[in-house]
Amino acid sequence: MAVTLGIYYLTPFIRWDRGPNLPDQAVLVDLAGRRFYFFWIEIWPHEFYFVAGLLIMAGLGLFLFTSALGRVWCGYTCPQTVWTDLFIATERWIEGDRNARVRLWKAGWNARKIRLRVFKYVVWAIIGLLTGGAWVFYFADAPTLAVDLVTGQAAPVAYITVAILTATTVLMGGIAREQVCIYMCPWPRIQGAMMDEGTLTVGYRDWRGEPRGKAHDGTTGDCIDCMACVNVCPMGIDIREGQQMACITCALCIDACDDVMDRIGKPRGLIDYLALSDQPPADDISQRAAVVPLGVSTQADGVSIPVAGQARSAPNTAPVPIITTAPKGWQPQPIWKHVLRPRTIVYTVLWAAIGVGLLFALFIRPEIDMTVAAVRNPQFVVLSDGSVRNAYDIRLRNKHGEERAFHLSLTADDTLRISLEGRTDLTVPVPADATFRQRVYVTARPGDAAAFADRTDLRFWIEDIVSGERAHADTHFFGRDMQ
Ligand code: SF4
Ligand code: SF4
Repeated sequence: MAVTLGIYYLTPFIRWDRGPNLPDQAVLVDLAGRRFYFFWIEIWPHEFYFVAGLLIMAGLGLFLFTSALGRVWCGYTCPQTVWTDLFIATERWIEGDRNARVRLWKAGWNARKIRLRVFKYVVWAIIGLLTGGAWVFYFADAPTLAVDLVTGQAAPVAYITVAILTATTVLMGGIAREQVCIYMCPWPRIQGAMMDEGTLTVGYRDWRGEPRGKAHDGTTGDCIDCMACVNVCPMGIDIREGQQMACITCALCIDACDDVMDRIGKPRGLIDYLALSDQPPADDISQRAAVVPLGVSTQADGVSIPVAGQARSAPNTAPVPIITTAPKGWQPQPIWKHVLRPRTIVYTVLWAAIGVGLLFALFIRPEIDMTVAAVRNPQFVVLSDGSVRNAYDIRLRNKHGEERAFHLSLTADDTLRISLEGRTDLTVPVPADATFRQRVYVTARPGDAAAFADRTDLRFWIEDIVSGERAHADTHFFGRDMQ
């Protein structure tokens, strides 16, 4: 929680010197300037494929982690989990531990209850306000916007965004909490396709814990049925019932149960990260369970276990010792065998391939660029001397931090002539870190082949006069025979 919240709240305030004329905020979505800045990387609108590639990598990363470690994203880094944890922590700070909160919930309204409730909602509202406030800082210079927000000089859209995010943060993290994960989020429904019997996830070693109970006569398993694991669960579920859709694998139940095991002198790990394939052999469990005369049930996976309480309460049945240690010679698989499996290797290879491709594209992308849009209304015009002229709108991009002059030229049928609207030469100054639109005319004289041809291939070139960098774009010239 501290790490993820720290990243979220502090990132907009990290400064990054990009030179003059460019923003010095390390992470900035500049909607007005149509740029995305991420430390030394600057993404232009026409390079949106980088963002698409990152989103695909994020998706594959989610597949990879879910197939290896279950819902670790949900349990540790999902904003819904992180903010819910934060709201629960403040609730615990203000209203006390779980038992105190239940007592307060059941108590009638009195001065103390009203005071605690009002204080809690004020703190929640402040958290929501900071959360919405931090979000808008990603879209403008954070220190400037912070001052503007406080002094009432920020744009209305900033206040509206902060207000909406304040309300949704309190609603989702403070009030709805686990309902969002269970009923609103699609991920619990998808995760089943990502997980298999080799996936490490939070589970209960029923062969060790059952039958659960507090008897100290050797007739119960290691689970003393204290409900600590259920009480800490933010989703309100009982992991001892088996894997459930609602479980976000936050592992709070592992910590709670390990504490209990420490106190009663049993080995930790009754609830643990484990895989279905980590169960001791079913035959072995069946034999061990067979020593219990009553209350044997069959789990969904075919493993027979004694049912809590029935063996002890059965009349005329002598207590029978329950064995809660793993069968001799049996060991769960090492973690690396769960993590390194064919499907996780395939996900990793795909993920890495896209990452390497994006890095490669990032390092070879040019600092100057152009796009050409032919003006097709009309397709061509015939001038008074019989020449045929086509018009083009050329967008020249200068990604340098200072103004650069671009020289325009043409490779095509060498009878074609190029001229620039509003200029006497073929050199265009393009401001720093900007896109400049230039109308360009290409003309074929009356007797030239291009004047009559249906279409002639054209290639426009630009050359940065300072650095010699070049870029090109292809299009066509339409003559009078154009259909
Ligand atoms: S915390 Fe452990 S001992 Fe207590 S009920 Fe849960 S599984 Fe059983
Ligand atoms: S069952 Fe355990 S791991 Fe799953 S959500 Fe509840 S506390 Fe977290």
